[in-house]
Amino acid sequence: MKGQNFSRRDFLKSSVALGAASLLPGQLITAKDKSREVGAKQSGRLEKSASGGRMVAISSENGFRATEKAMELLRQGADPLDAVIAGVNIVENDPEDITVGYGGLPNEEGVVELDASVMHGPTHNAGAVAALRNIKNPSKVAKLVMERTAHVLLVGEGALKFARAHGFKEENLLTEKARRIWLRRKETLSENDYWYPPKSDELEKELQAYVASHGTINCCALDAQGNLAGVTTTSGFFFKIPGRVGDSPIIGAGLYVDNNIGAAGSTGLGEANLLTLASFQVVNLMGQGLSPEEAGLRVLKMVVEKARLWPHRLDDRGRPRFSLNFYIINKKGEYAGVTIWQGRRYAVHDGVRNQLKESAYLFKRD
Ligand code: ASP
Repeated sequence: MKGQNFSRRDFLKSSVALGAASLLPGQLITAKDKSREVGAKQSGRLEKSASGGRMVAISSENGFRATEKAMELLRQGADPLDAVIAGVNIVENDPEDITVGYGGLPNEEGVVELDASVMHGPTHNAGAVAALRNIKNPSKVAKLVMERTAHVLLVGEGALKFARAHGFKEENLLTEKARRIWLRRKETLSENDYWYPPKSDELEKELQAYVASHGTINCCALDAQGNLAGVTTTSGFFFKIPGRVGDSPIIGAGLYVDNNIGAAGSTGLGEANLLTLASFQVVNLMGQGLSPEEAGLRVLKMVVEKARLWPHRLDDRGRPRFSLNFYIINKKGEYAGVTIWQGRRYAVHDGVRNQLKESAYLFKRD
């Protein structure tokens, strides 16, 4: 198990103790098998579903296809983590979503750097990668960090080497569309440099929309046995400083799952979340009896309180100029999307219907 000095010998020993002796000679026991079995016996795997067999998949607004896919897999009895990863892979692979995976907007040097985390409720285990280049499915790499290493988080070059070792194909993630948006940003950034924009520019409108662009996908799910899992994956902020790591790959910030309580994932200003470990706090408050919506709004209020100390992030009425959003499920299958500013939506499949719903909010837009 992570965080412990678990030698290969101990591992084999415990595998035998757990009944793996019946495996065929030469058959590999993965850390996942190991941790699942240990998890099922020792940790939060729910013996009887508190949700009465109800299944839920919830995601950020860009995850409508992800919740559809996750539910399809949950219905087939897939592990909830496999279900949510397959869901977000659709968006990671989509060049039209410029906030996640392939086609994501790059850093200030024009290089796409991706962050992702996964967390598996039944084994209370997690994996993450940060500032990963050239690999379009960081969520899959994050899962391998969880299953095939003794670590939780790998970053930069180390994360890339690890992905290569596992046979991931390297490719240029910068699409033509993303390159053009990046170039225009660079050309319009300052009057005091040597870059000039062209005179007429069909990208001007697009650029305006993306100047401060950021986005991410989170997807969390509850399966019919009452087990929870989640994933958060992103290209982070457009034009970020190379090496910047947001909240998405940080367990407790961009994602947190407690199989006895619930799951929460986040999109929005990563720095606000990193300074408050907000997803952890949401789950923690649900553990104290608050509903997903109550817990999410309570944490957002706390973030807004803290934001008073960050004047550069406030409008002239002292309200945050940033957004922060949570996608939350509890173990009973109750769920909520919450946000600071009115007007955000989230995707949710409740086992019957896949829908986009309005998030509960703190502030009405003027
Ligand atoms: N939370 C992401 C980050 O800070 C960005 C976003 O969700 O918009 O990298």
